[in-house]
Amino acid sequence: MKHSGASTAQEVPLPVAETTTGPTTKFAAVPAYFRDVKFDPVPYWQKIGRWKDITEKQFLSYRWGTANDIQGKMKLHDFLKETLPEKLPQSDEYENIRTRDDFIKDVMDGIDRAPMSIRISPHIISSIDWANPLEDPLRRQFIPMMSTFQKDHPVLTLDPQHETEDSPVQGLVHRYNDKCLFLAASHCPLYCRFCTRSYAVGANTSTVTKSSLKPQLPRWEAMLQYIASNPVINDVVISGGDSYSLMPHHLRLLGDRLLAIPHIRRFRIATKGLCVSPSRTLDPEDDWTDELIALVKRGRECGKHIALHTHFNHPSEFSWVSREAAQKLFANGVIVRNQSVLLKGVNDSVETMGALIRELADNNIQPYYVYAGDLVRGVEDLRTPLSTILTLEEQLRGTIAGFMTPQFVVDLPGGGGKRLAASYKTYDRKTGKSTFVAPAIKGGETVYEYWDPLASLPAQ
Ligand SMILES: *Cc1c(COP(=O)(O)O)cnc(C)c1O
Ligand code: SF4
Repeated sequence: MKHSGASTAQEVPLPVAETTTGPTTKFAAVPAYFRDVKFDPVPYWQKIGRWKDITEKQFLSYRWGTANDIQGKMKLHDFLKETLPEKLPQSDEYENIRTRDDFIKDVMDGIDRAPMSIRISPHIISSIDWANPLEDPLRRQFIPMMSTFQKDHPVLTLDPQHETEDSPVQGLVHRYNDKCLFLAASHCPLYCRFCTRSYAVGANTSTVTKSSLKPQLPRWEAMLQYIASNPVINDVVISGGDSYSLMPHHLRLLGDRLLAIPHIRRFRIATKGLCVSPSRTLDPEDDWTDELIALVKRGRECGKHIALHTHFNHPSEFSWVSREAAQKLFANGVIVRNQSVLLKGVNDSVETMGALIRELADNNIQPYYVYAGDLVRGVEDLRTPLSTILTLEEQLRGTIAGFMTPQFVVDLPGGGGKRLAASYKTYDRKTGKSTFVAPAIKGGETVYEYWDPLASLPAQ
């Protein structure tokens, strides 16, 4: 007896697996990329006037990248002057800004009020649409503007997670029982306006003098001693600042010291580097990624889990360089996860957040967390109400594999740790106040509050 389904199946020949004989496959040191197919290597930096003659080899060099990043107000001023068109497209949100000079003045005034200093990498500079900088989601993250400044929420502080209170040793935050945060560096390859650690990260600005977290081996020694003498700690997050600013041999030293502590079972290395300076991963003259891959392999050999945690917020932060870099890490067995911050006008729509999650997943970067914006000074214009993160979670769950679906969380102000946004105990949409509990951190009694930005509340 035949039915049509079976007969069709017989007519379509199935691909036959070739029998492999001979020696075991050796893995190439340089992975085979899908060049010219998925990763069309367009020289996207050449649309920036000053980089029109920069070759791929130069752009991929980390040394070239750090020498050509835009650091400080005056360098940004000069860059904008030479790059922007004289007239800008109209924007309802910025109705008073029509020309290049209006834009530059607004940015310069914005920088004077901002808690973070300016540093932008060539990859990010090349990924911004300079024909329409007002609406650009990357411009919003890294370049402040005076005209969108909103008054801070009355409950807001510079160290919203009270990290300085949970620090038994300077530079180490021990809040959760079994894990701690190791603040190894105080610099980043670029500075985000919304940084939750604006109390310590980056150069001093006209409004904030930073407490020092400079990479210092003697300071690390005290932190490592604390970890070694506290067997409850199994898990360490190396952060800062950004682990990209560690010298490659310091990364190795720190990693090996942690691997040698018997009760440390896992650690993560946090860096925004893969997002903002992906070329470094491909630069044959730079050792950071090689040290990372070697460290991960040493960790595997002794049964310990090491992962890279990175920070993409928008799909336009990906270029072919980012995709090749992610593939190099994947092919070499490095687990990469991503933590995004939900930002108004950047990634707060279902469409954009959905596209970001898919881009991450396709690059084998696990979308781990999406955070509601922290209550940080000077960036109220970038925060969204709790209702936004609830909607994103509701709409996006089920659109992709569950293991590629991020947890949508609030990092509770006051040191309650991360909680699912949807686990709120109360949420008053009129006052914007939501409450949470965190039994594993401080027992079940302490109630933590999160507040929607004032501008998102109904008029009364
Ligand atoms: C986020 C964080 C961690 C790590 O938490 P996970 O939920 O495991 O990612 C550890 N310590 C502190 C202080 C943190 O803020
Ligand atoms: S990369 Fe991270 S630590 Fe550095 S400025 Fe941005 S948010 Fe802050």
